[in-house]
Amino acid sequence: MHELSLCHALFKQIELLASQIHARRIVAIELQIGPLAGVEPSLLKNAFDLRKQNSIAQHAILRIEQSEIKAHCPQCHTDYDSTINDLRCPQCLCAGHLLSGNEILITGLDYN
Ligand SMILES: [Zn+2]
Repeated sequence: MHELSLCHALFKQIELLASQIHARRIVAIELQIGPLAGVEPSLLKNAFDLRKQNSIAQHAILRIEQSEIKAHCPQCHTDYDSTINDLRCPQCLCAGHLLSGNEILITGLDYN
């Protein structure tokens, strides 16, 4: 259950952020998740809804935005959109470096 441990880590981070900004309540959380992060958004939402009870984020909405896979070719220095199964450069077919697509980021936090 990857999503459960992820949710646990997410709440640690939310609680830390909340104390830093002196939030009384978290009302919405925005996450950006890459297709290579191995996270099933619906499972994460379920885990979040269970975990948020009696927390600072009790009434919070979780919004998940899926990002795209971007890669960079070290050979011809092109940045390009990639797919889960194929990271090769479309120009020269050499192996690209992943730029994004495996991230799990908190991109927004609404609070009061
Ligand atoms: Zn290339």
